[in-house]
Amino acid sequence: MIAKVIVDIATSELDKIFDYKIGYSGAVRGSRVIVPFGRFKTEGFVIETSEISEFPDDKLKSIIRVIDEVPALTEENLALAEYIHKKYHSSMASVLRLFLPSEMRTGKVRKKTANYVSLAEDIAVESMLSSIRKGADKQVAVIKYLQKNGKTKASILNETFSASSVTALKNKGYLVVTEEQILRTPYKNLDNQGGRVLLTNEQKSAVESVILSDKPTLIKGVTGSGKTEVYLQLIEKTILSGKTAIMLVPEISLTPQTFSRLRSRFGDKCAILHSGLSAGEKFDEWWRLRSNEATIAIGARSAIFAPLENLGIIIIDEEHDQSYESETSPRYVTEEIALMRAKLSGAKLVLGSATPKVESYLKAKNGEYNLAVMNERVNGKPLPEIVIADMREEVKRGNISPFSLALKAELQKTLESGNQAIIFLNRRGYSQKVICRECGYVAKCLNCDVSLNYHKADDVLKCHYCGSQYHMLTACPECGSVSINYSGTGTQKVVTELNELFPNAKILRMDNDTTQNKEGHFKILKEFGEKKADILVGTQMVAKGHDFPSVTLVGILDADMSLYFSDYRSGERTFQLVTQVAGRSGRAGAQGKVVLQTYSPKNPTLTASVNYDYESFYNREVAVRKASYFPPFSHVVRIMVESEDESLAISTLKQAFEKAKQVQENYHSSFIYFDRMKSPVKRIKNKFRYQILCRIKDDYARIEDEFYSIANGLTSKKVLCYVEVNPSTMN
Ligand code: ADP
Ligand code: ZN
Ligand code: ZN
Repeated sequence: MIAKVIVDIATSELDKIFDYKIGYSGAVRGSRVIVPFGRFKTEGFVIETSEISEFPDDKLKSIIRVIDEVPALTEENLALAEYIHKKYHSSMASVLRLFLPSEMRTGKVRKKTANYVSLAEDIAVESMLSSIRKGADKQVAVIKYLQKNGKTKASILNETFSASSVTALKNKGYLVVTEEQILRTPYKNLDNQGGRVLLTNEQKSAVESVILSDKPTLIKGVTGSGKTEVYLQLIEKTILSGKTAIMLVPEISLTPQTFSRLRSRFGDKCAILHSGLSAGEKFDEWWRLRSNEATIAIGARSAIFAPLENLGIIIIDEEHDQSYESETSPRYVTEEIALMRAKLSGAKLVLGSATPKVESYLKAKNGEYNLAVMNERVNGKPLPEIVIADMREEVKRGNISPFSLALKAELQKTLESGNQAIIFLNRRGYSQKVICRECGYVAKCLNCDVSLNYHKADDVLKCHYCGSQYHMLTACPECGSVSINYSGTGTQKVVTELNELFPNAKILRMDNDTTQNKEGHFKILKEFGEKKADILVGTQMVAKGHDFPSVTLVGILDADMSLYFSDYRSGERTFQLVTQVAGRSGRAGAQGKVVLQTYSPKNPTLTASVNYDYESFYNREVAVRKASYFPPFSHVVRIMVESEDESLAISTLKQAFEKAKQVQENYHSSFIYFDRMKSPVKRIKNKFRYQILCRIKDDYARIEDEFYSIANGLTSKKVLCYVEVNPSTMN
């Protein structure tokens, strides 16, 4: 038998498929194998087996060995991989890598095992004890200990008694040693979250609606309407019917509560997959799923590739979240993969959000998706009242602090009543740009064409694209002036000012700088959840689905920030963000409040969000996008060219443009826009960036295919050319 093996060479963008003899290795479709490759050995995946090869028998080498006890990739995984390979025009090797924890491929992690010791069963304990010579008290103690406690880890016995006495007993044949796997379990010390609840009527009909429909279901439920409980019920029903489940959340480290609710309901049946785990934890959780020991996978977008068979349901929570789009190759959209995976395995697909993507809601309205709506909060209280603070008025009044008078007053009230507040702002660091007031010089990163951010705690300038750090300026390098201005407001500055306003309040800060390590988010959220602080200040991270019963006030410092991104989705982002952050307030007994600070209080997106009026936001947004041909009424496609060599980037762009132009001429009437230019950020990590930008309204599938092959054809070691479709960030 012959195996077709995809050789897993990390640096190669192209698939290398070779025939090997299976011999006695036992390899089957889906096996990971070690094969001879040139003068070396390398890893590969068997993607096909057959009786014959085009190559003569004596030219074929044999597989050296199979790596895992069972094939790492299931039939369904392989079918899904094939789909992704075709759809995103990525190499099979890079697609297959998505299905395994990266550490597994390098062979650096293995099962962790330990030796356990118990008493031999065929010898009576009395005769063991009577045979031991006088003075060997430790041996007696070991036997008695094992008699009482049963099987014990060898290392514990050795430490408690002595290695020599244990060895002596072993030599007598009194002890049996077994090697057993030790599971490395992530987040062991999570709190138990909540018991079983009686579903509200809205929750019940949402569950039923999902079960009855054979289409994917969009659950549009206001914040606090109990969507998570609906997911749990659906998962429970799925598991009871003998099937498995995948639940995706935007960023697992930000939503420990969801995971702990799942774990307290389903125990060891759920496994967590996410990049923040240690290599060993990832490995063990992955294998628990692959071996069907765990039947529920929870994680961020990559958990869509969980090695589960017999899948019954896929749930995508907060389906509008940007984190569901991969920004590295293969650039996939999680929802597209989920749709395909659901189809391949006959599983249900559920998308949930308080603020669905315009695309998703349109699909629900068109009947492509089933729609379930939940309009009431579980606690029966109305959604928190949002009041607008017009910051132009504040400036006129001479208030130059980051807080409006309204917000200060509400904060005061909240603290006095013993409740908690969340302050949200859109940026991190102490301030934004560093500008010379005399000549206008702006400090920029040497590797990337972006301005640097000042971080007060470390007194350094940081580049948020490549992570480079620079000394803070003492004088302007251009004109020598010492009058350097840090414009803007960041989380650190807000904390400093809050400390001055409310010296007795305990304040926590959560942003990328305070949450570098694995369980950083957990720690901060846990402390806040335990009411060890009064105010939580943070960026996007505080907007996610947290459920803190004592939070009754949310302050949104700069609601405008995201309105002015040069992106057709900036309105949608703003609406989603405001709704999400506001939704953190008043989730339990007390009515919540939100103060939204803005310089453009009349902006229709903001006024819609203040009234929680998704429909009017949606209607307006759809009308605008339809009239101007933006997605979902067209596709925004960007062909990117990146290279450290600027002239190579430019010449490649020219070639790409010539080829793309032919496509554009062939499908002339399908294009709304077509041009080439420098990318908005002209250089990142020392790579120059150029782009072709198009907007395509018809014949999209055919044009897309041609663009992908243009990009793949121009990619080489020195220059990278790739296609982005409706990219979520346009740097
Ligand atoms: P959402 O995900 O829609 O924002 P959650 O699922 O987090 O809402 O629910 C909000 C709160 O209400 C949680 O604390 C949850 O435990 C609680 N909850 C949900 N459903 C019920 C119910 N049927 N009865 C009582 N409490 C519930
Ligand atoms: Zn200057
Ligand atoms: Zn940089």
